[in-house]
Amino acid sequence: TRLVDSGADSEDTAVEAALRPRALDEFVGQERVREQLTLVLSAARQRGASADHVLLSGGPGLGKTTLSMIIAAEMGAPIRITSGPAIQHAGDLAAILSSLTEGEVLFLDEIHRMSRPAEEMLYMAMEDFRVDVVVGKGPGATAIPLELPPFTLVGATTRAGLLPPPLRDRFGFTGHLDFYEPAELERVLHRSAGLLGVEIEPAGAAEIAGRSRGTPRIANRLLRRVRDFAQVRADGFVTREVAARALEVFEVDAGGLDRLDRAVLHALLKLFDGGPVGLSTLAVAVGEERETVEEVAEPFLVRAGLLARTPRGRVATPAAWAHLGLNRR
Ligand code: ATP
Repeated sequence: TRLVDSGADSEDTAVEAALRPRALDEFVGQERVREQLTLVLSAARQRGASADHVLLSGGPGLGKTTLSMIIAAEMGAPIRITSGPAIQHAGDLAAILSSLTEGEVLFLDEIHRMSRPAEEMLYMAMEDFRVDVVVGKGPGATAIPLELPPFTLVGATTRAGLLPPPLRDRFGFTGHLDFYEPAELERVLHRSAGLLGVEIEPAGAAEIAGRSRGTPRIANRLLRRVRDFAQVRADGFVTREVAARALEVFEVDAGGLDRLDRAVLHALLKLFDGGPVGLSTLAVAVGEERETVEEVAEPFLVRAGLLARTPRGRVATPAAWAHLGLNRR
């Protein structure tokens, strides 16, 4: 697994619970979504009603699960957590829905990956708080209507555009989570360092923030590796120098690129003079699968403005030459 991957690994899962902000005012950044959610939730609370269904979109590790837990906490409601891929059959969803209590928050991660029949059942549940449970098969099958208590669905997806419009339209509010600014990640890092008992100077946090790809989960993971280094090779205090040396050991460079990202860039620049070059050729040159280059390395390189995907192939930008300290021939 990569240190700069935005998905969660097992160590994250254990630590994330401890590092999760519990209230909206502890949640760093995303000012707009926070303000909007504050309004939606306060209004629902004043009316004594459950909150409208909320859709959260944004990449992995940006805080969708955290926000859903905060929504439940702010509403004083319990939360049930599941995901689209875990719901294979409409019956799985019916079982979950029918066991919800009044006002409960149902968090459905990767909602775009739910099966079609489950999705259709969800439409009715969201709109009318009712499901039809089909009993039996073939001509003898009957639909038994089942009333549900009012609940709040919080759906999470990496891209709201992946959702079928009828599903998207049933959410009363959609919040989009963006990548975080370095200054915001510094705040995340100071908060996490406090909770983990790590002493860190502001310049140390800035050093880690700059390498965290705009993602709090990555920032927290890099902080843990820097803590390891500080403990074993220094006196435990995280200065800028300690952070930089630690991340050098773990091969995360000043722009947040790891070994694979740099190998791709390096091949593109040195072997193909900056491109354009086809994806397959580039993959062979770095000794990786096509999919690995396309799905693992490229998205961040494109976002960082170092690589462009063109109809003629992959092309390096001028910033890519500068990043690797190479002169364009
Ligand atoms: P995935 O979709 O991959 O599960 P996610 O968007 O649900 O990702 P979370 O699990 O909510 O991401 O967040 C990952 C970690 O980052 C958590 O440990 C949380 O503590 C931290 N985090 C996320 N957003 C914030 C934030 N705004 N402020 C402070 N910490 C945050």
